[in-house]
Amino acid sequence: MTAATTDSLLDYDDVIASYDPVLGMEVHVELGTATKMFCGCPTTFGAEPNTQVCPVCIGLPGSLPVVNAKAIESAIRIGLALNCSIRPSSLFARKNYFYPDQPKNYQISQYDDPIAYDGYLDVVLPDGTPWRVEIERAHMEEDTGKSLHIGGTGRIHGASHSLLDYNRAGVPLVEIVTRPIEGTGERAPEVARAYVTALRDLLKALDVSDVRMDQGSLRCDANVSLKPTGATEFGTRTETKNVNSLKSVEVAVRYEMRRQAAVLRDGGEVIQETRHFAEADGTTSAGRRKETAEDYRYFPEPDLPPVQPDSAWVEELSKTLPELPWVRRARIQAEWGVSDEVMRDLVNVGAIDLIIETTEAGAPAEAARSWWVSFLAQQANTRETELADLPITPAQVAKVIALVTEGKLTNKLAQQVVVGVLDGDGEPEQIVADRGLEVVRDDSALQKAVDDALAANPDIADKIRSGKVAAAGKIVGDVMKATRGQADPARVKELVLASVGVE
Ligand code: ADP
Ligand code: MG
Ligand code: ZN
Repeated sequence: MTAATTDSLLDYDDVIASYDPVLGMEVHVELGTATKMFCGCPTTFGAEPNTQVCPVCIGLPGSLPVVNAKAIESAIRIGLALNCSIRPSSLFARKNYFYPDQPKNYQISQYDDPIAYDGYLDVVLPDGTPWRVEIERAHMEEDTGKSLHIGGTGRIHGASHSLLDYNRAGVPLVEIVTRPIEGTGERAPEVARAYVTALRDLLKALDVSDVRMDQGSLRCDANVSLKPTGATEFGTRTETKNVNSLKSVEVAVRYEMRRQAAVLRDGGEVIQETRHFAEADGTTSAGRRKETAEDYRYFPEPDLPPVQPDSAWVEELSKTLPELPWVRRARIQAEWGVSDEVMRDLVNVGAIDLIIETTEAGAPAEAARSWWVSFLAQQANTRETELADLPITPAQVAKVIALVTEGKLTNKLAQQVVVGVLDGDGEPEQIVADRGLEVVRDDSALQKAVDDALAANPDIADKIRSGKVAAAGKIVGDVMKATRGQADPARVKELVLASVGVE
């Protein structure tokens, strides 16, 4: 296998000048059901290997699958939320192939009659442009086990041996497939990312999955092809597998566009194949040549009856749909009275839920917003993490805000407390107590510091006395320094002015 980094890449601008990209997104979502798709095995993530298996999910002879009703319910709700039609009768099908992580030698999936079809998802690009992505289908299937390749880089190539864990085999999945996404031009990578982001938010709101991309509960395959600008016929696509973060979706699509354009520009042909995305350097490398559907010899699963949700049940489920994320966003924006631009920034840094939870813990919305988008955003940046992954809870932020409101902390001190929480030094109040950070309330202690500062700067004292109140800033600064930032600057200023007889 050739190293991906040797691919020649065309400059992105040149790609766009000569080609139109076409995208197709396939997203697998692992449903958060307590048990597997066709048996009663638990689905807990991270359990000891091969402790969550039974004859059904490891395909022992004579075992029979039984459909998990909760999984069907989730699939229907996903379909409805994606504006799909729900098929009154749909079949499971066997998709036949050998792979060691597939103990039955076939995967139970759906083929030509998926439970949900013909829908759409409206997404919003980071600059506010709306984009409708058409959904071809959402079908149910079961997950495979996991292979662990030991030795080498973790890929099968270069490994000394492989281990198999079937805990995941049979976990319910819904695969959501878009129709070809055309007309994006240079925005293709952005559209791909915005789509997966919107889908993730929707699935989270539906509460059907924990949508953790890092744990594989949401997995994205990105199909990309190029055609000469203006051409109607699609080019040959590649399918980049298991792109496991939102950022990676964008990076992978962009990389494939640049790589395919270089191949085409040099008179070559894009090969229809799966490609692996390398998180580390943002490149893709060739996987297997793509099979066609015929290769899998799909046939109706003989051990399972058709799924026939009655229309009353579907109707009932449609009433369980949550407030959709974008509707909720518009409502929150109206409540907070912020501009489209500010709201977009809040969404883009992932601050909305954190701010809401902070207000629910008692903080005023304005203060909650300001903490998350300024100081905490900076901290996330320097600590190279996402806002939501900072080791501070909205309740802790609300506590710090309360301490400021009560006058126990200045903003500067509050920032020190927050840094303490982020560094793992404990709860806000604990940190205030341990470090003696509380604002000095005692006027007599402050008066002493004010007197000292005025005595050390007689010329400034005179200036203030003569009416140049702004000159008081220097004295306030000295007092703040002397009290290690623990004085309330407004109170210090009052004392300074009073001391020189100016009100
Ligand atoms: P497969 O079984 O090969 O994964 P699917 O039909 O499940 O095929 O998914 C293919 C995805 O690629 C769909 O989203 C489809 O809309 C999209 N697609 C089809 N043809 C092209 C093309 N030429 N370029 C880009 N995307 C395409
Ligand atoms: Mg597919
Ligand atoms: Zn089982």
